Amino acid sequence: MTKRNLGTICVQAGYEPKNGEPRVVPIVQSTTFKYESSKQMGNLFDLKESGYFYTRLANPTNDAVAAKITALEGGVAGILTSSGQAANFYALLNILKSGDHIVASSAIYGGTYNLIAHTMKNLNIEATFVEPDISLDELNKAFKENTKVVFGETLSNPSLKILDIETFAKASHEHGVPLIVDNTFPTPIFLRPIEWGADIVTHSTTKYMNGFANSVGGAIVDSGNFDWNKYKEKYPSLTEPDETYHGVVFTEAFGKASYITKMTTTLMRDLGSIPSPQNSFYLGIGLETLHLRMARHFENALEVAKFLEKDERISWVNFSGLESDSQYKLAQKYLPNGSCGVISFGVKGGREAATKFMDSLKLAAVVTHVADSRTCVLHPASTTHRQMNDEELEKAGVKPDLIRMSVGIEDACDIIYDIKQALENL
Ligand code: PLP
Repeated sequence: MTKRNLGTICVQAGYEPKNGEPRVVPIVQSTTFKYESSKQMGNLFDLKESGYFYTRLANPTNDAVAAKITALEGGVAGILTSSGQAANFYALLNILKSGDHIVASSAIYGGTYNLIAHTMKNLNIEATFVEPDISLDELNKAFKENTKVVFGETLSNPSLKILDIETFAKASHEHGVPLIVDNTFPTPIFLRPIEWGADIVTHSTTKYMNGFANSVGGAIVDSGNFDWNKYKEKYPSLTEPDETYHGVVFTEAFGKASYITKMTTTLMRDLGSIPSPQNSFYLGIGLETLHLRMARHFENALEVAKFLEKDERISWVNFSGLESDSQYKLAQKYLPNGSCGVISFGVKGGREAATKFMDSLKLAAVVTHVADSRTCVLHPASTTHRQMNDEELEKAGVKPDLIRMSVGIEDACDIIYDIKQALENL
């Protein structure tokens, strides 16, 4: 097949109806699938035949949408999860066990920080946090004998720091471990991490991919590039016989699809965070306009950021599209065509002024969300990141007065008008 471009992949990939079949991917809202014989059902359970038998393990609607995201990221296999949190947890747990160590960027979403710093720690998996733009020499020092994975966010929520993916990939590969990145904010429209050396890509599809704030979801895409067999002793769950699956060795039986197949057959089997087919359907519909929406989100956000930058009531603005931004140079490399619609800024007068400003907005709503079609705002220090102490906030790049604005796809002039009238209320 000819290589397709991103817009075409958004609209068409993942589902190709045969003669007389529905044009739109059907919602297969069924937990289970019928077979004529127990023998065939047994073969499906033993992975001797492929086919659907229980939606927790696989479902045609979920698979079609996962295939679209896999094509967008340029991977070999992908899976949907019930949330972005589940995606990051599964991506890590699929290859980690008690006693292992993670090197993670400190500029990550608060929920992911909690997952790695606290929940994983309770599972006896330790982490070392490093700056997203750390030098290669310094990064190399963070690795330990038991380091099994490196994790980062390509463009962090909410601090908007860009991960130096090439440096992180180089260090990971020199130490024989894979690099997992969460690519929720730029989406593959603006950044395809696999092309920069990342091995596995995760998403909270709840955000731009769905685009309309109607369903929570996650996705994991494997590039198929990491050679698990080369570091056999580090990844026994993939390279040694799995007794819960009649001794199958995933890397031998499934080659480049082994990481995702292992996740489906063991993590989904045992933990079960699968999305409902209905939610996957909404995600699939959202993905069809991802390329159009991302362009508009970025265009609008740039206009808003330029307005904020000039206003004297604003103390600082972070948006990598601004030439004055600390991330601009990295953005020129990794995000040359745009980044996302999220801006962060501070209003003069600190926390109190921030709250007053937010409460005066009429078009932009105060919601715990980012990255949907409607403009919204949030104060992370008192909401999404409230579990963090000041030191942790500082490390994650979240200032106490930070307002996160997710610029939607309305008319930019109306969003700016709303900001102006709220500033006048201060
Ligand atoms: N990763 C990033 C970058 C996020 O911004 C979020 C949520 O905001 C998550 C993961 C978690 O995703 P979810 O809310 O879908 O569980």
